[in-house]
Amino acid sequence: MKVVLKNLTKRFPNRNKKLPDVIAVNDFDFEIPDGKLIGLLGPSGCGKSTTLNLISGLEKPTSGRVFFGDTDVTELPPENRGVGLVFQNYALYPHLTVRQNILFPLQNLRGDKKLSKEVMEEKALEAAKLVQIDSLMERKPSELSGGQQQRVAIARALVKMPSVLLLDEPLSNLDARLRLQTREEIRRIQNETGITTIFVTHDQEEAMSISDLIVVMKDGVLQQIGKPQDVYDMPENLFVAKFLGTPAINVFEGEVKNSRLYIGCEDVLAVTGAPDGEVWVGIRPEGFSLDEGGAFKAKLERVEVMGRDTSVVSTHEGCVTGSIRSIVPSEERPDGSEKTVSFSLKPFKTHLFSKDTEERIPFSY
Ligand code: ADP
Ligand code: MG
Repeated sequence: MKVVLKNLTKRFPNRNKKLPDVIAVNDFDFEIPDGKLIGLLGPSGCGKSTTLNLISGLEKPTSGRVFFGDTDVTELPPENRGVGLVFQNYALYPHLTVRQNILFPLQNLRGDKKLSKEVMEEKALEAAKLVQIDSLMERKPSELSGGQQQRVAIARALVKMPSVLLLDEPLSNLDARLRLQTREEIRRIQNETGITTIFVTHDQEEAMSISDLIVVMKDGVLQQIGKPQDVYDMPENLFVAKFLGTPAINVFEGEVKNSRLYIGCEDVLAVTGAPDGEVWVGIRPEGFSLDEGGAFKAKLERVEVMGRDTSVVSTHEGCVTGSIRSIVPSEERPDGSEKTVSFSLKPFKTHLFSKDTEERIPFSY
């Protein structure tokens, strides 16, 4: 089911009454395509949960509309929207078994939607198999690990075969290894069912690794929407550039003069088409190539071996994000005794942003 947000806005009165309203979601106007897994990504407090709650119907928008397919669902209560919800705290009924927890949404169906006992049991088992907990059906939640509990919550959200599955930071309560495993599970389940799924997280790596599309937001405002690799390769503003990628992008003060980029007094790159003036320069860690004749010279701090790659840590007075982190192939690593290190810059890993608006400045090379 395609989900369309049309000029969707949600204001909350500020908890401090002297301050203006909080605009948790500011004029969202985009389409979530049918059958895809969408990662809704941004720092804590940027409005991710509010967006999800507007889609599920748990919150009413201040203005704007929500469509499922061609149907306007803005006025529909959550139970009539056909959504499945999974939250960070699994919110299982502690006194019910796994089977009873999964059955619960089906037992509440009334009227012509009412199912026979056999059909309900069949559907519960099917959902349990999908998340691979069908051998645990008679256990209570307290007898399960966190990962298993979250699977039960996912099965419970899936049992009615929702048209849209909404997951709000579903992995946050799991340890690192389970987080990895469960996110791959979510990807597999989405592939198998084809249910349009919206996955909320503040973890950029999590969103990038499993999403067909990511929606990056900040302070209630949409920053960029696109395929993870495209957004990483072509960030539309400085915020998006800094939010995606580990280690984070390195940011410098720079200046464009006659289509050349200067960092400090060094002429480091051709940037044809960029207008003259001061700029923010973002360089990805993999954008530095060790090169004795390279124009970009930095003070070498240390060399960190990571196995396949090596992280070269250096400093430069133009860098505004602390030390520079660059990633180079281990075969090429400096021995660490030199005082300076020279790089040439990969133009497709180097991004220019306006000092005023922080928007991307295009250039060719
Ligand atoms: P996220 O899920 O990205 O962390 P939220 O959607 O929960 O962000 O919150 C977005 C903003 O809206 C925050 O500033 C938050 O304090 C505010 N907010 C959320 N819910 C309410 C509410 N019920 N009343 C007042 N402010 C709220
Ligand atoms: Mg939230």
